[in-house]
Amino acid sequence: MKYDYLIVGAGFAGSVMAERLANEANMKILIIDKRGHIGGNAFDYVNDDGILVHKYGPHIFHTNEKKVFDYLSRFTQWRNYEHKVLSSIQGQLYPIPINLTTVNKFYNIELSSGEVAAFLASKSEERTNVITAEDVVLSSVGRELYEAFFKNYTAKQWGLDPSELCASVTARIPTRVNKDDRYFTDVYQCMPALGYTKMFENMLDNNNIHLMLNTNYKEVINNLDYQKIIYTGPIDQYFDYSLGKLPYRSLEFKFDTVDAEKFQETGSINYPNENAYTRITEFKHLTGQKHLKSSIVYEFPVAEGDPYYPIPTPANTILYNKYKAMASKEKDVYFVGRLATYKYYNMDQVVAQSLAAFKKIYTSGP
Ligand code: FAD
Ligand code: UDP
Repeated sequence: MKYDYLIVGAGFAGSVMAERLANEANMKILIIDKRGHIGGNAFDYVNDDGILVHKYGPHIFHTNEKKVFDYLSRFTQWRNYEHKVLSSIQGQLYPIPINLTTVNKFYNIELSSGEVAAFLASKSEERTNVITAEDVVLSSVGRELYEAFFKNYTAKQWGLDPSELCASVTARIPTRVNKDDRYFTDVYQCMPALGYTKMFENMLDNNNIHLMLNTNYKEVINNLDYQKIIYTGPIDQYFDYSLGKLPYRSLEFKFDTVDAEKFQETGSINYPNENAYTRITEFKHLTGQKHLKSSIVYEFPVAEGDPYYPIPTPANTILYNKYKAMASKEKDVYFVGRLATYKYYNMDQVVAQSLAAFKKIYTSGP
């Protein structure tokens, strides 16, 4: 069988590309994933206890991009969900992102919304240039809150001190002078009503799309007939690590089901300072499922394992840019997604990137 496109990876990047190329451009697609399922890291499934869980850690959809929301809405209905997170510090729970409630409880004071900005300014450390993940937090909330909420969590999550990571890592977490305790403030915050996997099934439901699972593309590529490649795996893997390995941070997940309807107050609780895990997430908060039991997952950061997080440091960016330069010379190969472009992207950013890549490919001809 002759394919127009071979797509490596059936996560968000690969599935959006497959859907667009098949439905909009009427192309014949072969999509290959080395895992035994579609959905990439957003894959979810019903566990033995009958509870919908996310195999690769909690995935909460949020975006400000109407275009992305409208596009995905073709394949799923939604359940509104606003994620909330508490951070456990010396046995006390505080809202994170840091907000007015966090500051008042942490310092045992009673500031108003109008007063807290000046209070934090008095605590903050001046930085002429905000370059590292440490700079971001110290220059906004000061050392005490930094050490309680960010320093150890970040060191545990990344295996690096915040001063070694780019500012973009902790810049993901805002500071709020009001009592808003939502993790995200995006316009659209919701979960696919029947889960992510069902949404992916709908995306890939097209006679022009053939799916090959449990297959490393490198083992079959020489026997395939195709014109062009969309590659969504790790970029260094594509080039057989010829310039050296790009570091990706991994996680080990420990799942548990408790014999109670509810395990914890919010979707996630973060544990910055104690324990080897960073956070515990209870899925029923996210999915809204009703069940007499409840499933949770602990996330343990590790150096080796499946590549989950590109690690934003200056040295890694330099190495990535060298791979990117090699990638730009590959004829008829497009690199899309979080691993292939080595960007700490959320799901909606990967969808936006894929839609833009499709537009570029399609308008420039088959
Ligand atoms: P992936 O989903 O990683 O897909 C790449 C696919 O390529 C994989 O399935 C892989 O098996 C396959 N592949 C790789 N190499 C080969 C090969 N040689 N042969 C065949 N197949 C191959 N984003 C949010 O917006 N909200 C969240 O709450 C959120 N939570 C997250 C929590 C965790 C723990 C993690 C790790 C990520 C989270 N994300 C979240 C980010 C989200 O997972 C990614 O943005 C998105 O899944 C990236 O999609 P992708 O297609 O680029 O990559
Ligand atoms: N972070 C932290 N303490 C927290 C939450 C986040 O130090 O309680 C830092 C940490 O470095 C983390 C980054 O902020 O990796 C981004 O957090 P986010 O929750 O977005 O991480 P993700 O969900 O992508 O793992």
